[in-house]
Amino acid sequence: MFVLLHRDAQPSRLSELFTRLGIAVTPEGNGLRLTGPVFCVDPAWLRSQPEVAGVIELDPAAPLADRSGREDTVVQVGNARFGGGHFGVIAGPCAVEDEACIDAAAQIAARCGASVLRGGAFKPRTSPYHYQGIGETGLQLLSAAGKRHGLPVVAELMSPEDCETLSTRVELVQIGARNMQNFPLLRAAGRLDCPILLKRGFCATQEEWLLAAEYILAGGNSRVILCERGIRTFEPGQRFTLDLGAVAALKRRTHLPVIVDPSHAAGQAELVEPLALAAVCAGADGLMVEIHPKPASALCDARQALNEYGFSRLMDAVNSLRSHITKDSIERRQNPDA
Ligand code: PEP
Ligand code: MN
Repeated sequence: MFVLLHRDAQPSRLSELFTRLGIAVTPEGNGLRLTGPVFCVDPAWLRSQPEVAGVIELDPAAPLADRSGREDTVVQVGNARFGGGHFGVIAGPCAVEDEACIDAAAQIAARCGASVLRGGAFKPRTSPYHYQGIGETGLQLLSAAGKRHGLPVVAELMSPEDCETLSTRVELVQIGARNMQNFPLLRAAGRLDCPILLKRGFCATQEEWLLAAEYILAGGNSRVILCERGIRTFEPGQRFTLDLGAVAALKRRTHLPVIVDPSHAAGQAELVEPLALAAVCAGADGLMVEIHPKPASALCDARQALNEYGFSRLMDAVNSLRSHITKDSIERRQNPDA
C-alpha cells in the first residue's frame, strides 16, 4: 500500500501506528510505502485521516514491479538509458559467429546510432542440430567489438553457472523467452550486479512476465528492462504475434522500462521496420533489432536480419517519428486542455 501525504503533513503519527501493527514503513517522495500485514489497515479509514492525500492499493502479486505511483525507472547500460523518456536501441546479429562478422555488425550498429551491441554466444535453439553459438569465445569477441566501436554489449544467459563469465564480459545480461520462467536462472539474475533484459516467454501472460521480473527485483537487482518479442497465437503469417497492447498496458502497470524486439516477432526483414514504428507509437522505451553485415549468410535467424541499408532506414524512420511524438506530448503537457 502507498500512502500519499499532504504537502505539509507530519508522517510520525501514522508511521508509529503502522509500526505498532507490524507494518514496515518506507518514506518515498511525498508519501509512505507500507509493506507487511497491510490488510490490518482499512483503506477507507486511512483516506479519511487529515495527513492523507490519497491511498494507492498495490498489486499484492508483484509489489516491487508494480507502478504504484512510482516514477519510471531509468535503467542505464553503459552510456545508454532506457525508460523515463530515454529511448535505447540494441542492435547486432542473432549470434556472434566470428571476429570479422561481429566487428562489421558493431560498425553498422554504431554508424547508424544504436546504443547497445547484441550477439548471442550461448544460443537457445529449438533443435540440438542447429547452430548453438561459440560460447565463451563469442563473449570475448562481442566484448572486444563493443569496446572498439564504443558500445556496451548484451548477451544471453542460459545457465546460472555462466553468471560469472557473462557478467564480467557484458554490460547487460539477457534472459531469453525460453527461460522466462526458469526460476533458478531468475534467482541468479537477482543476485547479479548487472542490469537484466527479461524477454517475454512466447506463451506467457503479462502477469507471468511481471512475476518473472518480480523474482529478479525481490532478489535485490532493481535494474530490469522488459522486452516484448511476440507471442504464439493461431496466426501463422508471422513467426510470432507482436503484442503491442501488452506494451501500452505494462507501461501503465509497471515502472520498469519496456522495449520491443520486432525481429523475432516478424521473422521476416520486410516487417521489422513497420513493427518497430508501431512499437514507438505504443510507448516502447527502446528496440532490439537483429542486423547482419550479410543477412543471407547469417548462421542463425537469417530471414529476419536487416542489412546496413535496412537498419539505417529503420533508425531514420524511428528518429523522425520519435521527434514528432516527443514534440506532440510536450505540447500536450504544456497545453492539456487543447
Ligand atoms: C534472442 O534475442 O537472441 C532470442 C533468442 O530471442 P527470444 O528469446 O526472444 O526467442
Ligand atoms: Mn535471433
